[in-house]
Amino acid sequence: MTYDPSPIIGSLRSWYLDRMAPFGLDDTATVPAFDPATGVEIAAIPVANAATVDAVVAAARSAQPLWSAASASDRARALLAAADAVEAATDELVPLLAFETGKAVRTECHGEVSLLVEILRYFAGLAHEVKGHTTKLGDGVLGFVTRHPYGVVGGIVPWNVPLMLMGYKVAAPLAAGNTAVIKVPEQATYTLIRMQQLFDEHLPADVCTFVTGDGEATGQSLVTNDGVDKISFTGSVVTGRAVGVEAARRIRPVTLELGGKSPMIVLADCDVDLAVDGIVQSMRFTRGGQSCTAASRVYVHRSMLDQVRATLAGRLNALVIGPPLDEATDCGPMVSQQQRDTVLEFLAAAEADGLDVCRYGQVTNGTAFEEGYYVHPYAIFEPPATHRVATEEIFGPVVCIFAYDDVNEALQAANDSEYGLSASVWGRDVSTCLQLADRLQAGIVQINQNAIMVPGIAYGGIKNSGIGKESSLEAMLETYTWSKTNILNYRSS
Ligand code: NAD
Repeated sequence: MTYDPSPIIGSLRSWYLDRMAPFGLDDTATVPAFDPATGVEIAAIPVANAATVDAVVAAARSAQPLWSAASASDRARALLAAADAVEAATDELVPLLAFETGKAVRTECHGEVSLLVEILRYFAGLAHEVKGHTTKLGDGVLGFVTRHPYGVVGGIVPWNVPLMLMGYKVAAPLAAGNTAVIKVPEQATYTLIRMQQLFDEHLPADVCTFVTGDGEATGQSLVTNDGVDKISFTGSVVTGRAVGVEAARRIRPVTLELGGKSPMIVLADCDVDLAVDGIVQSMRFTRGGQSCTAASRVYVHRSMLDQVRATLAGRLNALVIGPPLDEATDCGPMVSQQQRDTVLEFLAAAEADGLDVCRYGQVTNGTAFEEGYYVHPYAIFEPPATHRVATEEIFGPVVCIFAYDDVNEALQAANDSEYGLSASVWGRDVSTCLQLADRLQAGIVQINQNAIMVPGIAYGGIKNSGIGKESSLEAMLETYTWSKTNILNYRSS
């Protein structure tokens, strides 16, 4: 694909600076942005400071009563129009997302834009569902619970699936009558500025505003702003903990969607091809493993280990590593030099400790492998359970494969983690699969699949993977509304 991002990014940048000038944003503080496929610096990102964030939050507060007073149909109509606009802009958004994040157009970016459209449409429908319940409390006494938007939601989005995760943090709160201020991830700034343009065409002023910048200045300013009524954060455990502390300090509700080290248990009766396809998809190799739900710990029955190893080698060696905008590419580069270096450090530690590390994939001619942030797909076979590659979230294309003899041993190992985001079980015997699913400690457990999340199914973790849910009706109500108990005594009236 021939794509020249410079004029597009240049014009998005000046449009955004004009749009945000009334809030005091200018070009004086910036952070650099890099092309992950070449390492070349691209247009710097304007950093919104505390004063700008404060002005944006104040505007969102002013806009909220009117937005919340609009009929559910009106809110739905606006979100549906935004969804149509995103869909119509697919051909623009896909290459821009690929360019900024390094994710391949064919395997990742098309799907993410479509998913964003689905998310907007799904929550548009749910605008009508902001309802409570009634309870008869005795003769002539009625209890009823009503649900109310918090006010201003502060959303913080990471870079790995920025459109999808922004979608959840915009569509659900807006459908419920909140306004939103969203801190966008540095590594997808310009894609999200394009989204701001699309939203501005269909949403009333100040109902949804994106602020750009880094975590320290911009993110921190949002989570400590007293005008924000609810924080919804997706990102790492380290940052999530700091965000949670700030929320506690201000006694504000917070939702935390954090990291994972998700297990996949392959039972002895599972078809090897199905299991291996499952590993390749579940580990999100085409996204460089940059997925919170990546199945990075796979427990395979010992009788299948050799076959799994051989079949996995075939599948992973077929993956084409190359420039993200090339339609033939399966796996683009990692998002940043820092992310690549982190992955390489884990691999170096595994190699230094003599672990069984295997490298796969074929690099397309002309790929700037060394200058860009590329990493091959890897598997590490039977590392010690306590080794850091087996316990820590690598957030890279590295899967650890363990052999087990007894399924209880696999279950215990799977649950022996600080994380509890996602898990999967693979096998023919549904009864065994269900029993394991019941005992797995994870916010979402899938059997014979580990599909990408779809709107309508709540996801969110337990343990260090976070607090709260996103992506469903119940999650919208729990996460973006508060409940009021009303009691009516009509005996005497
Ligand atoms: P990160 O925590 O470094 O950053 C996430 C966001 O927080 C970014 O926008 C960043 O600028 C901002 N931020 C950084 N410091 C901040 C601060 N002090 N206050 C407020 N905001 C701040 O995470 P990342 O590296 O961008 O993303 C990868 C992590 O996100 C992984 O751990 C992954 O598992 C997790 N993740 C979780 C989910 C989920 O749904 N559970 C989904 C995607 C990613």
